[in-house]
Amino acid sequence: RMLEAKKYVDRVYESVVQRNPNEYEFLQAVKEIFLSLTPVFARNPKYIEAGILEMIVEPERLISFRVPWVDDNGKVRVNRGYRVQYNSAIGPYKGGLRFHPSVNQSIVKFLGFEQIFKNALTGQSIGGGKGGSDFDPKGKSDMEIMRFCQSFMTELTKYIGADVDVPAGDIGVGAREIGYMFGQYKRLRGNFEAGVFTGKGVGYGGSLGRTEATGYGTVYFVEEMLKDRGLSFAGSTVVVSGSGNVSIYAIEKAQEYGAKVVACSDSNGYIYDDKGICLDTVKRLKEVERRRISEYVKEHPHAQYVEGSTGIWTIPCDIALPCATQNEIDENSAKTLIANGVKAIGEGANMPSTLDAIDIFLESEVLFGPGKAANAGGVAVSALEMAQNSSRVQWSFEKVDSKLKKIMTEIYRDSIKAADDYGHPGNLVIGSNIAGFKKVADAMIIQGVI
Ligand code: GLU
Repeated sequence: RMLEAKKYVDRVYESVVQRNPNEYEFLQAVKEIFLSLTPVFARNPKYIEAGILEMIVEPERLISFRVPWVDDNGKVRVNRGYRVQYNSAIGPYKGGLRFHPSVNQSIVKFLGFEQIFKNALTGQSIGGGKGGSDFDPKGKSDMEIMRFCQSFMTELTKYIGADVDVPAGDIGVGAREIGYMFGQYKRLRGNFEAGVFTGKGVGYGGSLGRTEATGYGTVYFVEEMLKDRGLSFAGSTVVVSGSGNVSIYAIEKAQEYGAKVVACSDSNGYIYDDKGICLDTVKRLKEVERRRISEYVKEHPHAQYVEGSTGIWTIPCDIALPCATQNEIDENSAKTLIANGVKAIGEGANMPSTLDAIDIFLESEVLFGPGKAANAGGVAVSALEMAQNSSRVQWSFEKVDSKLKKIMTEIYRDSIKAADDYGHPGNLVIGSNIAGFKKVADAMIIQGVI
């Protein structure tokens, strides 16, 4: 059975490679998930018979469009927009929009594919989707951002809706961008459809706790992993990469739990503060003033700024939380972290570790919390935002936060259980992939070949 399952997985993977040439990030995400699923196919041939793998790996719909806009000098600029509507077996497509110059079809597809399993893991009824643009928000004026968002939505509006596809933020897309996009959607549709976006401002249908959810959720998840080994954040030294929304709130919760966070970064470099990062400074620099993290040392001269984004993993720490972007931890960084005595890795970003890095972590004693489990708190609270929008209510921060904590604990338990059941105790990569996959695959089988 195992051999047959392996053959099936290899055969489908080969065809995916052939049909999606040069899509490295996408193939990386597919490979990781496919390898995890082999034991499921060995035990449940019904999935092979139903052709689930062939179906699930092909997006239901992939939209790509022109986004023309006019910059402050009156010059016409053109970017490319994307939305991948990957899987709607268990709910409307759900997933963020990323605005970053690196965005291309491969990146959008890897993120969308991951999102299917992550969303299923949350226990909420949300399908998988993702989108974005190669637009670079860095250095753009507020009016340029607005014009870009409006143009992007002029096209995307045709494809989304509260029960169809519900976008949210990701890298480069925060409350400001969502406000502009929601405004344009409302204008084009002529109705106030609160549930069409999540991550909205709390004054017009947003959920309390959504801003904090991804970062807090990652820390809740890692605290569960640590607990099983008699460890905790309290008294630990922590390194968090990135300084965006995920990173900031991971730092906040880690500090609240009594950890000392000594470093964070942006795409240019990292800061090291042996007294512990002053989060107020980071928040003001990044959230309000939209400046570079290097500015931190001007206000905290005892801290160091080091150019280059991967150097951050050479800092000795007990817990590493990669919260920046894909493939930020390679084989060498993984080895360095382990050599320096790291005890746990919690992925706040999507796919921040390369396949080689994951192998190294799994072969070691280190606790490893993969992104699709550890960073699911953001989209989980997005689903809670949708629930509040449907019933026209607003829950308190405490209510949302306690639901988030419960969801993260359940994701941890479900993943541990699936890993156990399928003969890979403690392997949260395999466990989370299997737990997420089964929920979606079962729904697909019930709904037939559609
Ligand atoms: N972009 C986030 C993620 O990667 C959140 C998506 C959402 O809230 O829809 O899961």
